[in-house]
Amino acid sequence: METVFTKIMHNQIPSVRLHEDELCIAILDISPVNKGHVLVISREPYPTIADCPVETLGHLMSVVKRIDAVLREKLHADATNIVINNGPAAGQEVPHLHIHVIPRHDHDGKRFIPPKEKYGEGELERMGKLLRLD
Ligand code: AMP
Repeated sequence: METVFTKIMHNQIPSVRLHEDELCIAILDISPVNKGHVLVISREPYPTIADCPVETLGHLMSVVKRIDAVLREKLHADATNIVINNGPAAGQEVPHLHIHVIPRHDHDGKRFIPPKEKYGEGELERMGKLLRLD
């Protein structure tokens, strides 16, 4: 499937590349939450992590770790948000697996935690039973 990111990989759309290897590329997001916002993108256009081999996911995270270090060193980021919008209901706009690495600075005023809910009586325990990995 063709996506904006496959077009970037095939040089049909320009991008600023920070890294590339056989499994992924890392580029600057064109509309950054903060300047220096990076996308680590799987070369294969897996729509979500459900479609992606675990070895590839592990490799993407190894690149995320390197990007995190660069953002801290070169931009003096105090922290990063590392985000996968994993499907359209989660706000994914480009259906091609990518990991956002967003530099954060103390008091930068950006918010990432959505409003939270509360569990009813016994609901937390029931949810735990339902979701436990076998
Ligand atoms: P998501 O909502 O998780 O699918 O994020 C898609 C991201 O891709 C957004 O943050 C966009 O700003 C970014 N994006 C879309 N087109 C481009 C492009 N041509 N170059 C760089 N980033 C892009």
